[in-house]
Amino acid sequence: MEIVIFGAPGAGKGTQAKRISEVLNIPHISTGDILRSAVAAKTELGKKVEAIMAAGELVSDDLMAQLVREMLESDKVKNGFILDGYPRTVKQVEYFEKIRKELNLNNSCLLNIQVDFDVIFKRLTSRLLCINCNAIVNESDIKEENTCPVCGAKNSLIKRKDDAPEVVRRRLNVYKESTEPILEYYEKNPTLKIINVNGDQAVEKVTEEILAKLKDC
Ligand code: AMP
Repeated sequence: MEIVIFGAPGAGKGTQAKRISEVLNIPHISTGDILRSAVAAKTELGKKVEAIMAAGELVSDDLMAQLVREMLESDKVKNGFILDGYPRTVKQVEYFEKIRKELNLNNSCLLNIQVDFDVIFKRLTSRLLCINCNAIVNESDIKEENTCPVCGAKNSLIKRKDDAPEVVRRRLNVYKESTEPILEYYEKNPTLKIINVNGDQAVEKVTEEILAKLKDC
């Protein structure tokens, strides 16, 4: 089963993808995580994308095409995958559709996690990333100062540069302008099934809804 997890930045795609990847035993591929690792490791790719990401803009479709082809041709995804963060523009959808045809990926669905922008804005500006376990943590969930509530690591919680309020506003605009039209594309060309999920409920409830609805995929 190939799942594209879709929604605005902060809708909970990463959190849900990790959870369902464990239940279904298929890998979670996050283009954002791959790019952030490249930035941290200061690779050629990382150097190219660092400033773009910090500003909340999108990396070029050509760079993403290279990256996504490598990911989808890898052996790791031969039993399915959860793709998080791609496609993000209509041009990327066209490329993704070409790869799906070439690689015979015909059992795909798109999970659209729906959350209002004002809820997202609050979520993103108060969240932290654990650089030890990659968990996304809300400031209000931290019980012990400077300690990740998920893995217990000390001093591992950082604020993503792109979670600064002005960058969050920009990312939401980019989503509205460039990414949301993907839904229209798939409504017109239903090569994969769109499954809508209410993302404005407790994390566990969202996972339950996803797993129940995936049976129709
Ligand atoms: P995310 O963690 O998915 O919010 O991604 C963080 C950042 O990585 C985005 O704001 C973009 O700068 C970049 N990025 C991730 N995926 C893509 C993509 N498919 N196309 C263009 N840029 C991307």
